[in-house]
Amino acid sequence: MPASITPGVGPDARDDLVFLDEAPAPAQTGQRADRQPSQPLSQQTSWRVLIVDDDADVHSTTTFALAGLEVLARPLEFLHARSAAAARELLAHEPDIAVILLDVVMEQPDAGLHLVRHIRATLGMVDVRIILRTGQPGYAPEMDAIRDLDINDYRTKSELTRSKLYTAVAAAVRCYQQLRALSAGRAGLERIVEAGAELMTLQGPREVARSVLVQAAALLGQQPDGVLCARDGGQLRVLGGEGSGRDLEGGPPEVHVDHRLGDRIGASLRRAFDQQAAAFGPGCLALYFPGKSGRDFAAAIPLRQPVSEGARRLLRVFTSVVSVGLDNLELVGRLNNAAFFDRLTRLPNRTRLVEVLDETIAAAGGSGAHGPDSTLTLVDLDHFAASNDALGHGFGDLLLVAVAERLRAKLHPRLFVARVGGDTFAVLGDGALNTPATIHSLFEAPFSIDGHDVQVSSTLGLVRLNEHDGGGANALKDADIALKRAKAQRRGGHFTFSRGMGVEIRERVRMMHALRGALERRELFLAYQPQVDLSTHRPFGAEALLRWRTADGKNVPPDRFIPIAEYSGLIVEIGGWVLREACAELMRIRAAGYLDFTMSVNVSQAQFRHPQFVDVLCGALSETGAPAQYLELEITESMAMEEPQQLAEMLGQVKCTGVSIAIDDFGTGFSSLSHLQRLKVDRLKIDRTFVTEITGSARGSSIAEMVIQLGRNLGLSVIAEGVEDERQAQILHALGCPLAQGYLFARPMSPPALLEWLDGQLERTT
Ligand code: C2E
Ligand code: MG
Ligand code: MG
Repeated sequence: MPASITPGVGPDARDDLVFLDEAPAPAQTGQRADRQPSQPLSQQTSWRVLIVDDDADVHSTTTFALAGLEVLARPLEFLHARSAAAARELLAHEPDIAVILLDVVMEQPDAGLHLVRHIRATLGMVDVRIILRTGQPGYAPEMDAIRDLDINDYRTKSELTRSKLYTAVAAAVRCYQQLRALSAGRAGLERIVEAGAELMTLQGPREVARSVLVQAAALLGQQPDGVLCARDGGQLRVLGGEGSGRDLEGGPPEVHVDHRLGDRIGASLRRAFDQQAAAFGPGCLALYFPGKSGRDFAAAIPLRQPVSEGARRLLRVFTSVVSVGLDNLELVGRLNNAAFFDRLTRLPNRTRLVEVLDETIAAAGGSGAHGPDSTLTLVDLDHFAASNDALGHGFGDLLLVAVAERLRAKLHPRLFVARVGGDTFAVLGDGALNTPATIHSLFEAPFSIDGHDVQVSSTLGLVRLNEHDGGGANALKDADIALKRAKAQRRGGHFTFSRGMGVEIRERVRMMHALRGALERRELFLAYQPQVDLSTHRPFGAEALLRWRTADGKNVPPDRFIPIAEYSGLIVEIGGWVLREACAELMRIRAAGYLDFTMSVNVSQAQFRHPQFVDVLCGALSETGAPAQYLELEITESMAMEEPQQLAEMLGQVKCTGVSIAIDDFGTGFSSLSHLQRLKVDRLKIDRTFVTEITGSARGSSIAEMVIQLGRNLGLSVIAEGVEDERQAQILHALGCPLAQGYLFARPMSPPALLEWLDGQLERTT
């Protein structure tokens, strides 16, 4: 609603509000001034005052009244809107307005107040100062609206004499300037905190330099420009640059900086380093960042305008935050080094190798075809442990360093060399360069250690990445499998992993997991194969044989799962259960009237050598009440050959319990006679292959015959296993073998079937 502005009533005549026809024409309604939005305060050259009023006279009188006035050494600049709607539109594009002189009553009686809400709440312009004006005192807004909407002043137009208007606007401008400085400071501080946090996430000096320069530029209100340099042992190096300093990284700044950025920058930089403090030179600035670990840093930045006191204060905070950040980065760098490099040889370690393997595999594009011909070779030093023990660890360390040095120096530079374990190195890269022949040739010349020539050989395990599935860790595991295979075959040789090996091993791992819960799930049970007297065919005992039927009804052969149970140590628990179960079955058979019946139980090496074995055995006997003299333990011949002294002691303890011992699969190992005598075993079981041989090969009965002879000479009982036909039985009997076990007599069977079978045999033979 238009309101006429009445002449001032102040004592000063110049204080009158004057209406001048020649007043400068107000800018078009809603007109945009041609300037960048939200300039830093330091770059603004005038204070912008927006006049919102539906009375054209008010626009002209206001601009006239305030014409030529300066606040804080800057002139006022006016923007005009003739309605609340026009003001909204203008404000949407013009963020840098210091003061709004706002008519309350326009399109609606409270259009002005609505506009204020829009400015504060919707546009979020909290710094702009607002002076409400109204022609009619009756339209005064509520007090709480003035407070809530942060309105600076409320005046009737009649109150606003020239001097009062000036005072109100000047006070509002000052207020705005302080609010802006505070906001800029707050934004600057937020930025600094973010800069510190961001530094920790960056990788590489270039990124760090970029971040520092961009953040500094934001605080200065200019485009990113300049360089970040590090001083390391007196040497200056450009870490990275922006703007005119871009592409300077890596070089010594003396040459480039002066040349590319100008002498002044170079001079500021040197001053900052010399004085270990920020250097504000004409047209340029050098920030100094002290470092804790023998390195310090400085950023040289060309200046587009003088730096305000507020910005200087912010830069000081920025410098200390960045210094801490750079220190942390150094620390992280060193931790990184410790995490990814071997301290002794300074080669990348296993962790780093897996990373590089992963990268190589990923670069070759997922699974299947990993890197056209990339090969991973594990290089294991032969007999390193022995020489380490014999000549001392100092010697061993020197040898490792020498080997690392030779691999690094002599292999093609494109190949990646790492140390993955004590005496194991890895070579990764192009299969044409990374061959067993190349690597073996590096070990032809002796290594000179402490003035001695030391000849070292190596065994290699290889994996071709393009024939391999899975990630880096998997490739390394497979190379390890190949290496183990190579070592088992021949020292100084090599073995290449094949896909088939992987499948087999994964299958075994799967089986091991499945076996773990098999006992609780009652998937394991025992079958019993009768043993008979060859002359009468009367049963005298049975061998307990372990069976595994998985949840899906598959029978896993013992030859497959028992080695896994042994390898994983599960056999200790499973074997304990077998012993108890077989003893319990023995008691049931005895209860059925077979009091002379013997139960044979197979015992694995891992189980037998377990410190608790004798306790487990005694436990099984006492728990079930089984008489020890009717229990026989079968140990294999190969097992009897290992560590004979220890085994003899073990067997002594076992025999004290009263159980007897049979040597299973006899004839396959290399038992010496004296050895056998010392072991004090009770029975020899002729291995099935020699029983088959009796009728199946030209060599005939030679070995079976020998074993029978041996038994007789040593006073040991002998049993033939795997007897499948009548002829075998007859020959064995003729050779003097008293006992037998085999499909000819009975297959392994369940406990009820065994009892039934025994009853049948009893009827037949009595
Ligand atoms: P082993 O102790 O030599 O057991 C004899 C194997 O020969 C059994 O195989 C049996 O079924 C098989 N057999 C018996 N008579 C004949 C025959 O006439 N012809 C043929 N071709 N085979 C015959 P099985 O049950 O598959 O057991 C294989 C091996 O697994 C056993 O050889 C033994 O070393 C091991 N094993 C079985 N049960 C246990 C156990 O509870 N603990 C341990 N540690 N090992 C066990
Ligand atoms: Mg056996
Ligand atoms: Mg056997």
